[in-house]
Amino acid sequence: MMQSHPKTVIFTDVDGTLIDLTTYSCEISAPAITRLVSSNVPVVLCSSKTFREQTFYRQVLKISDPFIVENGSAVFIPCDYFDFDISFQGKRDGYLVIELGQKADKIYRVLGRIRSRTGLSFQTYSDLNIKEISSITGLSIGAAIRASHRDYSQTITSSLSPDEIKHLGKALAKEKLAILGGGRFFTVTSQVSQKGVAASLLTAYFRRKLGAVVTVGIGDSPNDRTLLEVVDRAFLVQQPDGKWHPMEGIDVIRVPAPGPEGWCRVAEQLLAAV
Ligand SMILES: [Mg+2]
Repeated sequence: MMQSHPKTVIFTDVDGTLIDLTTYSCEISAPAITRLVSSNVPVVLCSSKTFREQTFYRQVLKISDPFIVENGSAVFIPCDYFDFDISFQGKRDGYLVIELGQKADKIYRVLGRIRSRTGLSFQTYSDLNIKEISSITGLSIGAAIRASHRDYSQTITSSLSPDEIKHLGKALAKEKLAILGGGRFFTVTSQVSQKGVAASLLTAYFRRKLGAVVTVGIGDSPNDRTLLEVVDRAFLVQQPDGKWHPMEGIDVIRVPAPGPEGWCRVAEQLLAAV
């Protein structure tokens, strides 16, 4: 019997990888996504972005595959995507929800306690109104609303020194929480919320659905590390300054172009093989 070649499944970061870090536009990567979607290559968004933000981009890009929100805090799977039983914690808007993280309000309360105990001063989305979030991030009002609806994480928008991050990280670790840098801001989630954990969980389901699978991970910053560790082929795109984030100790392919331009190069390579 002829062996069919393994199917590709793409797990991709969004900010600074699939979309531009400052304009939040997916214009550059959209044509490549369209080709991947029509070639039946699953494209799993795996980002610190929220459910509402990711459903927005998935709609624009016509992606109908599962997705991973808030740095691995939850996995959303369209209800009829897999034709076998999977265990899930809830349903939302036609998706099964697998929750891995802590609730956002609990994280907010912990941050408040740490703030008063340590004297560290920092701001989160929850401390700002929509207009303020929009002006800090450059997001439109609509996009700022989508970003502010966090279910499992808090976004810290203040710029923190490496010492302050260390200090905050230690205080958070005692509460089983972790802080990770994304493209621009820091995200605080449960320690067990990791892109890599969520991607591995989904990979097992994809293997059950598709048989042999080659997983591809694409990212740009520290919060992509665990994702790039667990995939078969890990690609690191450049940051806007043309440099790669140092990803020591893991086997990554450094793509010689920033953000979405780099993303397109990876997509072209993959499309040539499917
Ligand atoms: Mg990123």
